[in-house]
Amino acid sequence: MFESLSNRLGGVFDKLRKRGALSEDDVSEAMREVRVALLEADVALPVVKDFVKKVKERAVGQEVIKSVTPGQMVVKIVNDVLVETLGADDEESQINLRAEAPVPILMVGLQGSGKTTTSGKLALRLRTRERKKVMVASLDVYRPAAQKQLEVVAGQAEVDSLPIVMGEMPVAIAKRAMSEGRKGGYDVVILDTAGRLHIDQELMDEVAQVRDAVKPAETLLVTDAMIGQDAVNLAREFNEKIGISGIVLTRVDGDARGGAALSMRAVTGKPIKLLGMGEKLDQLEGFHADRIASRILGMGDVVSLVEKAAESIEAEEAEKMAAKLMEGKFDMNDMLSQLRQIQKMGDIKGILGMMPGIGKMQKQIENANIDDKMIKHQEAIILSMTAKERANPALMKASRKKRVAAGSGTTVQEINKLLKQHQQMADVMKKMKKMGGKKGLMGAMS
Ligand code: GDP
Repeated sequence: MFESLSNRLGGVFDKLRKRGALSEDDVSEAMREVRVALLEADVALPVVKDFVKKVKERAVGQEVIKSVTPGQMVVKIVNDVLVETLGADDEESQINLRAEAPVPILMVGLQGSGKTTTSGKLALRLRTRERKKVMVASLDVYRPAAQKQLEVVAGQAEVDSLPIVMGEMPVAIAKRAMSEGRKGGYDVVILDTAGRLHIDQELMDEVAQVRDAVKPAETLLVTDAMIGQDAVNLAREFNEKIGISGIVLTRVDGDARGGAALSMRAVTGKPIKLLGMGEKLDQLEGFHADRIASRILGMGDVVSLVEKAAESIEAEEAEKMAAKLMEGKFDMNDMLSQLRQIQKMGDIKGILGMMPGIGKMQKQIENANIDDKMIKHQEAIILSMTAKERANPALMKASRKKRVAAGSGTTVQEINKLLKQHQQMADVMKKMKKMGGKKGLMGAMS
């Protein structure tokens, strides 16, 4: 799957990866090609626009981590945005089985979308992977062969199917399935509804009645990936009319373009939960945005390279800070680099929290009251101070404060607050030194 998109994107990055430095023009040029590639993959236009915008914003002005090339950096950014666009974290993509047993799962979709096959696949998956006792029931009373077809599929999946009662109507079948499920101690009941060639009111009404009768834990729309944007529009319509909880894309094995997969989340707001990868019953896969992104880009190696490089830089900086702490020295320059660290890697409470014996000082650190909004202002203040003032903040008397306030576009109060905060932090550092926990401290930081 995704072959054509994968090939096109590969070409774009091949060009980039050879370059030493990356200009805004390079990024724009690459993004023009990414845009065409996505459009050719039949990704919805608003999704394409949003995608390109996000990548550009992050790529331009992005600090390139040493030991990786700018091109590799862009690959990583594109990967991250792909993952976001595909959406659905692993938690969201799980089939919800947390309701009271038997958990009803409603399968909906158009005729020929692969609904019956997918019902069997899901039954097999839940039986083997989750060790659930599963029953399936067909509510398709319009096509004579449909109920029989599900019975055959159930046999192949080695799960039970609700005995067929000729002439029974869908809501009645659903209710009977639930009560038989309860009596028989089943964990899950999968209800395969009737499909139609097109969405029509009658179909929607029927599905809504079944939904109200059984209150499904999942209402899964089964749709063919190969119909591209039609699948996305269908999902939107089903969601508006009856409310769905997730999407199963089928025939992904035959879908070289991938437009439906890429647009689905952004357009419908609903997660893809499963992918049908072939006609066989075991050809059903869970949906993992990161794995799909790396399949599309085919550059998992580059992505993990950049991730590792970023991690080692963070470790290096933490190491440097630890050394500073050991000396008990902490001037405004240290504070500046600390602030920048905080922006990059989380909060100082977390960093200090890793150190032994810090518990008692926790309150003091919390009083320092560090939050993200303030950091930009604080950075500006320190940057407006002279080298001397930074090394010796005690120099900061009224006139200097006024000058720095004007220079940084802040107020004297904010400067006072920063100085106080610095003093508190410096005090903590001194105490740390007194504790002399060299072994403990280095151990905690490494
Ligand atoms: P329904 O009318 O929605 O119940 O669709 P069916 O389950 O009868 O499936 C229609 C056809 O699609 C059958 O021939 C299935 O074998 C085939 N099919 C279903 N899912 C997949 C899939 O993921 N990949 C492929 N290649 N074929 C599939």
